[in-house]
Amino acid sequence: MASAISSRVRKPPVPLADLAGALAAAVEVRPVPLLALRLPEFERIAWREGKRAARRLERLTIRAFTGSAHRMLRSGDLSGHDAGSDIFTIVMTAPSREARAPSSLDIRSVLERVSAAISLQCGLRAETGWILLARFDGDLPREICAALERGARDRERYEFFSAIGHELRTPLSSIRGYLETLLDGQVDPATAQRFLETARREALRMGRLLDGMFEFSLLDLSTDALAGQWCDLGGQIAQACDVVRPIAQSRSIGVERAPIDARAAIDPDACLQLLVNLLDNAVKYGHEGGTVRVGARAHSGEVVVSVDDDGPGIAVHERESIFGLRVRGSSAAARPGTGIGLAIVKMIAERAGGGVRVGASPLGGARFEVTLPLKEDFRSRAS
Ligand code: ADP
Repeated sequence: MASAISSRVRKPPVPLADLAGALAAAVEVRPVPLLALRLPEFERIAWREGKRAARRLERLTIRAFTGSAHRMLRSGDLSGHDAGSDIFTIVMTAPSREARAPSSLDIRSVLERVSAAISLQCGLRAETGWILLARFDGDLPREICAALERGARDRERYEFFSAIGHELRTPLSSIRGYLETLLDGQVDPATAQRFLETARREALRMGRLLDGMFEFSLLDLSTDALAGQWCDLGGQIAQACDVVRPIAQSRSIGVERAPIDARAAIDPDACLQLLVNLLDNAVKYGHEGGTVRVGARAHSGEVVVSVDDDGPGIAVHERESIFGLRVRGSSAAARPGTGIGLAIVKMIAERAGGGVRVGASPLGGARFEVTLPLKEDFRSRAS
């Protein structure tokens, strides 16, 4: 058996039905890693440029896949692909692996290198994922779906971790701004005290962000953890304004806020994060010497917080898409950024049972409106 399959990985991938047979035999001996790659662009190219172009690209991809798999895998590992499909599969069934099952790091590195080869040689992006099969009932397409779903979850988690990294930068630059002003030595003792308090509060928030990194990266799983949380919205708005003040001052932007007496049903840190992200953008995209305004109004069990600026605003056709992770709009131009802040705003607002939308501001720029549910005992007062 070993010799019959030993050279297969050097040949083009076998049909998935053949792979399923070999996989069924291999899981009898030990758990087998199943690696999957999907090329979502195949379908689009077939639709846009015709079947012949898609076939040509598929042949090129098979060559890139086989070449890189050949370099990475051992004799006895198998690869599979059905003609016309956008899925490529590898099962690590090499008999020589019996002594030491491949580590998740090894498996990920195979996936990364194979997908890098496909991207380099064919210009195609691959979605990847893997699972360890301890049992196999013959339904290979289902197991491939499970591997790809797991890969999507891993990618999401990775994106959230990098999002936290991004979020840490705002408190850090706020602390630096306050410290630099203090070092200049031209502030009176009362102002200096206030600056130090804000810097300390931001440092504590950074610590909490770091502590909560893991939970934060699993936002969709941790809704329960937030149940029953609430905050004084006016207080959080005041704090968020303090956080962005150094950046606003460096651009001579005035930050105005209307007082609000409302308790929102949302975790205080999450609320502050959401407000800081919106204000940070408003002072980043607003005009030098202009105005940023924060308002809030409560009605029918909800409170709507608005952040207005006088910058370029958001084009109508971008008003849905800019909330996507890593999406940057045409207004971003040469300004630095990562396209993560608004995705986090949306995630936080929706997790709290609210939402976010953007429109045109009476100030001439963008108006972001976040809806949050009011804390139970505030609902009757606001209705
Ligand atoms: P970043 O600012 O890092 O690019 P965000 O997720 O915070 O990422 O914002 C996504 C995009 O939305 C930005 O690239 C920018 O084009 C647009 N945007 C966000 N806030 C504003 C604003 N207040 N005025 C104009 N454009 C904005």
